[in-house]
Order: sequence, then structure tokens, then C-alpha cells
Amino acid sequence: MARIETPKRVRGTQDIFGEEQRRFARVVEAFEHVRRLYCFQQVQVPVFESTGVFARSMGETSDVVSKEMYTFPDRGDDLLTLRPEFTAGICRAYITEGWQQFAPLKLTTHGPVFRYERPQKGRYRQFHQIDAEIIGAAEPAADVELLTFADQLLRELGIGEGVTLQLNTLGDAETRDAWRAALIEHFQSHRGDLSEDSLTRLEKNPLRILDSKDPRDRPAADSAPDIDAFLTTEAKDFFDAVTGGLDAAGVAWTRNARLVRGLDYYRHTAFEFVTDRLGAQGTVLAGGRYDGLIGNLGGPETPGVGWAAGIERLGMLLEAPAVEQVQVAVVVERAGLEAKGIELVASLRRAGVVAELFATGSPKKRYDKAVKSSPAEIVSIDVRDDAPVVNRRTLKSEAVDDEMRATLIAVLAAV
Ligand code: ATP
Ligand code: MG
Repeated sequence: MARIETPKRVRGTQDIFGEEQRRFARVVEAFEHVRRLYCFQQVQVPVFESTGVFARSMGETSDVVSKEMYTFPDRGDDLLTLRPEFTAGICRAYITEGWQQFAPLKLTTHGPVFRYERPQKGRYRQFHQIDAEIIGAAEPAADVELLTFADQLLRELGIGEGVTLQLNTLGDAETRDAWRAALIEHFQSHRGDLSEDSLTRLEKNPLRILDSKDPRDRPAADSAPDIDAFLTTEAKDFFDAVTGGLDAAGVAWTRNARLVRGLDYYRHTAFEFVTDRLGAQGTVLAGGRYDGLIGNLGGPETPGVGWAAGIERLGMLLEAPAVEQVQVAVVVERAGLEAKGIELVASLRRAGVVAELFATGSPKKRYDKAVKSSPAEIVSIDVRDDAPVVNRRTLKSEAVDDEMRATLIAVLAAV
């Protein structure tokens, strides 16, 4: 008989379990907590969109659109793409769902995103992002609020110390055109020193040469002109207002004049929160202002600013979260009394107590199994003089507060 081949997990995907899952959950919980503090609304958007949504908003020359998208025709021959990020889909929804009426909108979402990349530590083909956006606000105050949100999230996760906010401005359209022309001129005169990739970038997206990781490109990239000399008064005022706001909010930042981000749609503010603890995957949270995006998608000209962070990368930086604590273990020590155990554990759980039932396997071993689950209290059900008795033993008095003690006494009295 032919052996059945075991199915394999698809390369670059993850099954998240145990400690990894606890890390994942911790990131999402902290994000949800801070989201409320900053009065952002949650949204859900589709996992797939028409390919044009991403191609038009992220730019054909971006790494994501040119080589990382999962694109396929569906059974009706519509060309679809699994979302490689959230911003484009949210902006599509803003246009098609009439969300303009709610502007300015402060939104968050989280979930899986997909990119065809070479898998390695901290880099997957299906990964997960948390995402925050403000749409319809042109003021630098929106950039400041989003960055302060990100900073507070990292602090609440206990990883603020090792992570640095790197900040840059990409100016307005006028600034960017002038700077772009100067960069092309500079790189043209260094053509001989550039990598093949950067020669292609020179044609299509010369800004990207600035953050090239290829060592051959570094001398030319490092000697290239900064944007500062090309900033219009408006663009400079905008950047000053962002940095001033960050200082007022107590958010530390450093200027990185080489930070350009991969996407065509960025204007003004661009930023990354970076750590050296994750090797080449050191960017944990990144974003910027994308005032041209909604217009590019065919919507009304609408400013926007946002960021996204990899849940897995944030999770890797955390202290390992504690395993969830069993408050009460209910042990049925005598065969025949299982129904009593079922009743008791159900009552405890309904009263809000974290409880686990030990009522299977050899009755003699159940108590030891319950102790191994490391509960704060053990409640055991046994028989004495032919009548059922319930015994309570506290194992960790420090984990039992007055409220829980009262609940426990009330539940035990009722069964
Ligand atoms: P990188 O330079 O690492 O490829 P990126 O600039 O492509 O990152 P963004 O598009 O800004 O990343 O996405 C925001 C965040 O999503 C990143 O800062 C990172 O935390 C996370 N991220 C991006 N790509 C992956 C991936 N393939 N696997 C896991 N996390 C990722
Ligand atoms: Mg990338």
C-alpha cells in the first residue's frame, strides 16, 4: 500500500502556540488598551482586495508590489491580492464606504498580512500586524498623536528602553521633486560605484538608494545631499511642529536623514522604531504621512498618517508573559461523585473564578495532578461516613484576594 504523505506547513507560515501565543496575545492586549486611551475606533477590512488597490497606492516600484505580493485570479477571473499591509485597504474603504462623513477618523486594526519574502527569524510570508491610522487630518498634531501612541505602546510592553524612534521628513511635493532631481544628479555622477539594484532604482525610485543595505552603495548614499537644503518653508514648519510636539509629549526621537521608507506615497513625516536586538529584522514599527494616497486611488484629496508594527517582532522583544494561573482546582477523589465536581466547577466559572476540574483517570492520582496545575486553591470532593464532603486547601494565599475568598465561600455553601 502506498504511504500517505504527511502534509507540511507552508513555508513562511506559522502555527503559534504556547509561549509564542502568550507573547502574541500580550501585544494585542496592550495595543487594544492603548487604542482606547487614545480614542481610536477599531475597523476590520478584507484580507484580499483587487490587486489595483495595492499596486496603485503603494507604487509599482516598491519592493512589496514588485516582488512580494500574493496575487492570483479567482474563479471569476478577477485579479486579487492578499493584503501585504492595511493602509491601502483602509483608504479604499474610506472612499468606497463613504467614511468621509466621519473625518477626521482615528482607526486601528490588526490581523494577518502576506508577503512573499525569504523566511528567516522575524520574517515570515504570513505575519501579523497591528495598525493605526488617522485619515482626514492634515495637521502635524496627528503625526504627534500617532507617534505618542506608538511610544506609549512600546513602554507598556516594557520594550521602550531598547527601541529608538528614528524620524525624518520627506517634505511636500515641491521639496521632494527638487530633492529627487538633486539625488539623481548625485547618483548619476557615482554610477560606477552603485550596485545593479541601485542602478535600477536610479531610473525608478532614486530615494530608495539612500537606505540601500548593499555595502557597495553606502559611500554614494552617505555622501548624497540631505533633504534639508530643499525644504520649502511649509515643509520645514511642518517638521518643526512634529518634533516640537514630540518634545512636548516627552517622546524621545533621533533624526535619521537617510530614512526614506519603501513606499511612494509618503510625504512629510517618515519614521521607524528600531532595535538592535533582532539582527537584520530590527525595524519593529514603522510608518509616515501619506497625503497623496487617497487621491492616487481616485478618491478626493485627503491627508492621512499611520503606522504598522509586526506583532511577532514586538512579541520577541517582550519578557516572557506568565502562564495563566488556575485559581481553583476541583478534584473528585472518589468515583461516582463526578456529577458533584461538574456542578461545582461550573458554579465557580459562572462566578468568574478561573477553575479546572480533575475528575478523570485513577481517583488516587487526581489530587497530585491538581497540585501540579499549580492552583491557588484546591477544592476536593470525597466521601466520609457515606456522605459527600468538600475540603478546601489554600496553596498560595498571596494569590487569593478577599473578593475571591468570598466568592469561593458563597459557591461552596450553595452546592
Ligand atoms: P523590513 O524592512 O523588515 O522588510 P518593511 O519596511 O517592509 O520591513 P513595513 O512594510 O513598514 O515593513 O511593515 C511594518 C512592520 O511589519 C515592520 O516594521 C515589521 O515589524 C513588520 N514586518 C514587515 N515585514 C515582515 C515580515 N515579512 N515578517 C514579519 N514581520 C514583518
Ligand atoms: Mg519589507
